[in-house]
This record gives sequence, C-alpha cells and structure tokens, in this order.
Amino acid sequence: MKRKAIFLDRDGVINVRLPGGAYVTRWEEFAFCEGASEAMKLLQRSGYLLLVVTNQRGIGRGLMTEDDLADIHRRMKEELGRRGVTLDAVLHCPHDHDAKCRCRKPLPGMIEEGVSRFAVDRDSSLIIGDSLSDIEAGRAAGIGGILVVPPGERAPEGLRTAPSLLDAALAVTGEVR
Ligand SMILES: [Mg+2]
Ligand SMILES: [Zn+2]
Repeated sequence: MKRKAIFLDRDGVINVRLPGGAYVTRWEEFAFCEGASEAMKLLQRSGYLLLVVTNQRGIGRGLMTEDDLADIHRRMKEELGRRGVTLDAVLHCPHDHDAKCRCRKPLPGMIEEGVSRFAVDRDSSLIIGDSLSDIEAGRAAGIGGILVVPPGERAPEGLRTAPSLLDAALAVTGEVR
C-alpha cells in the first residue's frame, strides 16, 4: 500500500529564517516557527509521512560541516520527539549551485528519493515550503504544493498559499483550530 506524505521544507517553515538569509550553522541559532510542531503532529495523526527536504548550501560553501548539520537535525528530532512528533526522514542537499547535483531544489532529487524509499503516493502528497523552488521541486516530481507566505508578504497569484505551516496543516487535515 502506498503512503501519503508531506514533504517539508525546513528553513522558514519548521524553523525561523535568520536575518539576511544567514545559514543556521548551530543548534543555538535554531528556533521553531510558532505552531510548527503542532502542525506536524496534526499531519502525522492524519496518516501523513513527514519527510523533510532541505537545501543546505552552507555545507558546500564551507560555512558548516556535515557533522554540524547532523547535530542540528539530531537535536531537532529529539525536541520534536518530546513534543510528540516523529520525523520519518530528514533529507538534505549539501551542494552549492556549481556542483550541478540532482538534489538541490528546485530539482526533485530529494522528493524522488523520499517517494521511492517510502513508496509514496504522489497524488495524495504535498510539499509545504516558503520558496518557489519548493513548489517547483514538487511540480517536477508530480506533487502539489502549498507556499507559506508570512503575513505582510505578498502572495503570488495562482498558487495555493498559507500564512504558516500550522495554517497549511489545518487546511490539509480539515481540522478547525
Ligand atoms: Mg525555506
Ligand atoms: Zn544536491
């Protein structure tokens, strides 16, 4: 049986974006977005796999190491575990633009990996991200998307949007806050 999944962008969706587009390079810089863990709990309870797909070009640029990122993700999973959320996978692209990899969003490599590893049903799955490249990666993999557009920022036309991950999760699961 194929499973439905939510592919989750990380920065700006699960954790707060740092000013000036700076990279989160250590746990001390990681802060959960308001309602993010509640959102993931709702989605998980509704039967979705939770698959994080995150571009982490800071590694390719030498601003952090694979170990630094692994430490952040270990602590993120631990904290989510305390809040009742189990992530099924955290996939990352460590490459800079010039590496010409297949995984950096808007290319669909990470989504494709999740789809094949977990036998994901594309039609009932979505990606939730705060960049157009997230939505484009979903489209390239044949899955729909919800663009997170924080209040005060302008939403592009013709795309499904939500002001936060929690709002997106409420819309997906049909639960009322
Ligand atoms: Mg993002
Ligand atoms: Zn890559």
